[in-house]
Amino acid sequence: MADYIVYGNLNCPFSYALYELLYSQNLLHKVEWRVVEHTSDSGSYLRSTESMSELASDIFNIRNRAPGITISLPLSLSDSLFPSLCAIAAQRSNPEQSTQFISNLYRALWIKGKDIGNPSVIFHALEEAGIDTELETDELCEEILLRWQKEWERGNFGLRTPVIIADDGRRMVGLVNQQTVLDFFQGAQVVSTATTSSSRYQERMTIALFGDDQISNLWPLLSSLRDDSNILLPQSLASLQEMLLSAERCPDLVLLHNTGQHANLIELCRSMAHLTREKQVPLAVIGTPIADADEVSLYDLGVADYLMQQRNAQIIQARINILLQLKRAHDLLARAASIDTLTQIYNRREFERCFETEWRRGQRSRQPISVVLIDIDHFKAFNDNLGHLNGDNCLRQIATTIRDSVRRAQDMVCRFGGEEFIILLPETDQAGAELLAEHIRQKIVELDIRHSPNFKDEPVTVSLGIATAVPAHKGESPRKIIDQADNALYKAKRQGRNRVERYVDEG
Ligand code: GH3
Ligand code: MG
Ligand code: MG
Repeated sequence: MADYIVYGNLNCPFSYALYELLYSQNLLHKVEWRVVEHTSDSGSYLRSTESMSELASDIFNIRNRAPGITISLPLSLSDSLFPSLCAIAAQRSNPEQSTQFISNLYRALWIKGKDIGNPSVIFHALEEAGIDTELETDELCEEILLRWQKEWERGNFGLRTPVIIADDGRRMVGLVNQQTVLDFFQGAQVVSTATTSSSRYQERMTIALFGDDQISNLWPLLSSLRDDSNILLPQSLASLQEMLLSAERCPDLVLLHNTGQHANLIELCRSMAHLTREKQVPLAVIGTPIADADEVSLYDLGVADYLMQQRNAQIIQARINILLQLKRAHDLLARAASIDTLTQIYNRREFERCFETEWRRGQRSRQPISVVLIDIDHFKAFNDNLGHLNGDNCLRQIATTIRDSVRRAQDMVCRFGGEEFIILLPETDQAGAELLAEHIRQKIVELDIRHSPNFKDEPVTVSLGIATAVPAHKGESPRKIIDQADNALYKAKRQGRNRVERYVDEG
């Protein structure tokens, strides 16, 4: 296991700078470099002067923060999906040489300004690193990329890369400056930087536009939309559906281009509406005028708007913006609905959603999954004696401590109910869960929160129950592992509280 995990994007100049810095300081061997992607259409980053100047200012910042690093402004950013998959494939097949390969890719883009999406550039980078150029990227690489992507997104780093996570739980988000990075690798705590301007463009929304070759009629509109949004052009209905189903590439708006075949249009919308509704993505149509009755049928199917393509581009754009704003508001609400207001950690609903996904992933990977259930000891007495406001404060402090104790981005800390918390630990065995649980128990004692007078000099403590299962094994279920953790927690309470117990099968 590496001492540090870094989530870095090939298309991110700050990630490049970090890579170079670690490379020059001979620190890369301590790091597991996990490539992630910001968007699937970063190519449009440079289409507008505004984002061009954002990138230029990021590069200016890097030159200031890490003066030893050579970096120049590339003419365009490539689609980093393929090179990212190649990086993962190389890490798997040639771990020794992959460090050099990734460095070659970064340098090709950020020093030489090459298009790293171009196979011949990748070929060259492989050759220079001494890796077989027949390198295969398979489904497993895609799965790894998706998983890292999800870990990084779930880590809530505000869509910033690079992110460094040390195995003692310290985190560094963004690139502060050379010295700070080195201090971090010496064990220092680092306060995260303010949002870099490049992260702003990551919040651009994505529109999937689906149509046939007549789509070229829409070019003028597309070029103005590109300034504010990423445009995806799925080549088939199947690939549009695939995008909608993917967690990472799901668009914020689906725009169907109607080229005049109305009968087909209604069928097409019918077949899409089911999926867009499920994924909560607005569906709109753009095209030539149609009969009122047909338009009404489309609205009945759930289409959000019918845009007349011959109208002024500004009007069309304004209406598209309204749809995107609605989608953004919806996403914010969905996010708010997943967070517990008192403690600001995930709520039970979000736990259940993620638990289900992780359970299915565990069934495929055959890896164990652990849960830790945590309950505050004698909390009723605390509330009765010190009041609910103090009780709420105590809950918040404990929630933050638990949240800051987990080490990996995929670990998830939630408020399970009243004064109970639960931690979901994918790909973690019992020994790993026990170490973490014991660490949390001590951290809470160290908080030294004064208990009610009945408890004299004893601080507030917690009891913890652990259960582990391999989801691929017969007879296991999410329900069962929670019951087992509850059972272990009950045992911890009976044995005197302020302790960790694991579930043991006595049957
Ligand atoms: P044990 O060690 O056995 O867990 O004892 P306990 O007193 O913690 O257990 P019990 O389940 O009897 O009490 C839980 C108490 O937690 C009840 C309530 O006073 C308090 N509580 C639950 N939710 C909240 C909350 O949101 N805010 C505050 N202030 N207190 C809460
Ligand atoms: Mg309780
Ligand atoms: Mg309790």
